[in-house]
Amino acid sequence: MEERKRAALEKSVCGKEKELTGWLTELVRIPTFVPPGENYGKIVDWLIPVFEDFGFQCERIEMPDDVYESKQKNDELSGVRANLLATKDCGAKESVVIYTHLDVVPSGEGWNSHPFETVIKNDRLYGRGVADSKGSVASLLTALSVMNELNWDSKYNLRVALTTDEEIGPYSGLCYFADAGLLQGDYCLCMDGDNEGIAIATNGVLNWELKVQGKSCHSSIPFMGVNAIEEAKVVMTELASLKKKVEVRESKAPCSPHMTEISGQEHIMPVFNVTMISGGVKENIIPPSCTLKGDRRYIPEENMEEVIKEFEDALEAIKMKYGIDLELLCKPGYPPMFTDPSNEWVKEVQEVASEAFGVSKHIIGVQGGLDVAYAVQKTKQPVCAFGVGSFMDSNAHGADENVMIRDLKDYVKFLVGLLT
Ligand SMILES: [Zn+2]
Repeated sequence: MEERKRAALEKSVCGKEKELTGWLTELVRIPTFVPPGENYGKIVDWLIPVFEDFGFQCERIEMPDDVYESKQKNDELSGVRANLLATKDCGAKESVVIYTHLDVVPSGEGWNSHPFETVIKNDRLYGRGVADSKGSVASLLTALSVMNELNWDSKYNLRVALTTDEEIGPYSGLCYFADAGLLQGDYCLCMDGDNEGIAIATNGVLNWELKVQGKSCHSSIPFMGVNAIEEAKVVMTELASLKKKVEVRESKAPCSPHMTEISGQEHIMPVFNVTMISGGVKENIIPPSCTLKGDRRYIPEENMEEVIKEFEDALEAIKMKYGIDLELLCKPGYPPMFTDPSNEWVKEVQEVASEAFGVSKHIIGVQGGLDVAYAVQKTKQPVCAFGVGSFMDSNAHGADENVMIRDLKDYVKFLVGLLT
């Protein structure tokens, strides 16, 4: 960006700090935590006139009941699944889809301030969702306001998708938008995620549940039954070798420098975790079954069918060796994501982000999953995920979630720089 333009941008963004934190405060105040996610209609209705003031055409799009019931609904959820699609034809040749989610995780315990009333302390703004990911929504509104003030036109037609249930899945509002063909455009910017680097790769998610079957009997004569918990112990020991085999693989997508510093890993890797175990009825009953649950996160270079096959083969071997009765249920989550790092869009996002934040932002992969991966699998758009929160300090999903005011302002500069 040329010097004169940069100075004008800096001045305008500084003048809009109150507007920016004001918008973010309003967004946090509407408690869109999921479960249950019962205030999506409220936040969408609040956003519509704001986007209309910037010349957008807005649609409140509810996930149809039949889709909701078959793909997303569970007992913890209530209220309508209302999403926002805001579009603006700027007379440009190309269009960009700008996405993030409006839901947040529940507040949890341990806060030093009210989670849904923002507080500013030492250049940080605190509140549930300020980093993940309402801060990026407030920044987008501020970026539009800056562009208005400076009379700078967007060089892309804009298609803003602000959607629901990302934090709970498996079929978020964005997945519905993708399937309903509402995300057409040449590029995609995902404002979800942190500002650590430009994320172009994510792992796919496969949740699994394994039932170890035993046979109950009186615990004083255990030889009459089969203790499912003891069987599960054997299964877990055997699965440790599958974990070892899986976790030596690596993707060609690099980790962030922080991640490398902490873990020693240079590229993203698959993981295999056992994360839940339940079994047993009563102290004096030999347990008839024991259920293990976990997740298998697979790199973009792996594919889900092979991942499942590998798991099934390992279980087959355990069955053969020990005669244990096992039943596997796999529940696919978001697919993996991979955009070629040499893609022009990636380069542009990287360059503009590095300039706005005053540090070079690396192209990275992350081991978590994102719902935008599902969307771009359909749309085939090049995608970059780059958000406003700090990977190290924002404590997204934890108590005292916060975002630096400076990062919010730099993020506004990033958006203006990218769009103009
Ligand atoms: Zn998020």
